[in-house]
Amino acid sequence: MSPEARGRGPSEGGPDSGEAQLSPEAASARDTAVNRVRQAIGLIDDFVAGRGPTNASQVRRLPPTPEQAEARRAAARAAIALEEQRSAELGALIARIEHPKVKHVTVGSGVAATLSHATQRAGQGAAPGPVRDLPEAIAISESPDWWRILGDRDIGQPVTHYESVGYRHQPGDFNPDHTGRARASDVAYANAMTALDSGMVTLKGRVTAIERLSGEEQWPVRTAWRLQVDDEKWIYADLVAYAGGLGSPTKHNAFVRAPELERQLRSTGRLTDAQQQLVPTVGEGETVLIIGGGGTAGWAAQEAVRNGRKATIITRDPSLGGVPPHVRRELDSHGVHVLEGQVIRAESGGSGVVLGVLRKDKSSFEVSGAGVSLAIGQTPNLPRGLEERVFRMKRRQLNGKERVVALEAIDQITNEPTGLTIHGAAMATPAFKQGPKPYVQDRDEFVAALDRQANDLDVPEDSRGVEPSIHQSAINVPLSNEVPE
Ligand SMILES: Cc1cc2nc3c(=O)[nH]c(=O)nc-3n(C[C@H](O)[C@H](O)[C@H](O)COP(=O)(O)OP(=O)(O)OC[C@H]3O[C@@H](n4cnc5c(N)ncnc54)[C@H](O)[C@@H]3O)c2cc1C
Repeated sequence: MSPEARGRGPSEGGPDSGEAQLSPEAASARDTAVNRVRQAIGLIDDFVAGRGPTNASQVRRLPPTPEQAEARRAAARAAIALEEQRSAELGALIARIEHPKVKHVTVGSGVAATLSHATQRAGQGAAPGPVRDLPEAIAISESPDWWRILGDRDIGQPVTHYESVGYRHQPGDFNPDHTGRARASDVAYANAMTALDSGMVTLKGRVTAIERLSGEEQWPVRTAWRLQVDDEKWIYADLVAYAGGLGSPTKHNAFVRAPELERQLRSTGRLTDAQQQLVPTVGEGETVLIIGGGGTAGWAAQEAVRNGRKATIITRDPSLGGVPPHVRRELDSHGVHVLEGQVIRAESGGSGVVLGVLRKDKSSFEVSGAGVSLAIGQTPNLPRGLEERVFRMKRRQLNGKERVVALEAIDQITNEPTGLTIHGAAMATPAFKQGPKPYVQDRDEFVAALDRQANDLDVPEDSRGVEPSIHQSAINVPLSNEVPE
């Protein structure tokens, strides 16, 4: 890949870099963050130059020492702080532009979005320093990277499963242990440093509609695509990579039926979706009610008890089959209650919330707590307009085998690509696999291909069988953007 295509380097402050707009504290925080990031990048460079082989793919496989890993982790934390600041700057800038126009938009901020932005060749990311000009390539995401939210918890595979030619910094750069299970933060840090390195700045907001110019509309800016953010502002773009993942947090009927309670609890931070914030804001010693019984519910309960809160899980399946044994043991040792039943009602009570629960045997009970964490999965929720598009498989070769690396929207008349691509876990969601809309050409073949490549014997065992896995995105996204393995 050319240096131009790789975007610009890490953010830097400087005498003329716009600090006049920042408070002295903010400017000093920025300097500290930038210096830490520089230091760590220097460390990585030293490491590569001094000890490691020069071949990038071999360097990736060399575990860092614990000290190197810790220095890089500190740098990545600084990168995250910097990214949040630059994201706010981008938001303020876009608010001032009547019809913002960019060359490339990536929707999302997870693994797929990060790899997609870092490997796309259509436009430069943000220049170093404060975001004062609209970059050619931006990202839009409604919530931070999910792995960042999970923090230092163990996830499903060793870091080596997540290696990708699309990463500027591999998850394995942040963990000296390349054989045990990775931490979510290893992935979050690889994402954050890769985002920083590739100039990825993210506008906070939900993309609620994606429209293609058909030629009949009167758009104020002439581009192929436009994306509406939070049902308000339109962003105009030549190309769009949609990496929206498995969907938005599923809504719970008990709260859908009590909209005023939901509004009030959310506004005070007492009701959260675990995928966006593991636990609500409740006082020390207070109880968090966690609805759901999968891995995310286990992590939410773990987060609550680790922070001196109590946790009660309410789930239809109290076996907690999706919660890893080591998390289960931690919950047991903290006396986390697991109650069987389906939450059918939510009311306010005292300073918190009371849930009405129906058991399988039709008996019922109530349970109260200071706040609620919803951990009931995600529902694919595509932006309006996407379902009207026609998609076809984007295929590439790897190790002599053909694989599906993305879906691309095509023009129904010319059959040519239109510049909208679906990357990562999103491609494996029911909307694309089952339809009826959006329409995917050769859908049966597409479904079979995803299954085949997730179960291929080349896939390391712990990642095998999972179509939306990090391992799959790590291979597919760079290939889709023509970066060879
Ligand atoms: C609980 C759980 C545990 C998992 N554990 C593992 C594991 O251990 N190993 C593994 O390989 N895989 C695991 N997965 C699978 C996981 O989905 C993938 O690994 C991977 O993280 C998906 O990456 P992604 O970037 O495609 O999507 P995501 O990481 O889900 O990112 C999607 C992004 O898009 C944003 N977004 C979505 N819609 C919009 C919109 N309309 N507008 C703006 N932004 C939007 C979201 O806010 C988010 O930032 C797990 C999934 C879940 C739910």
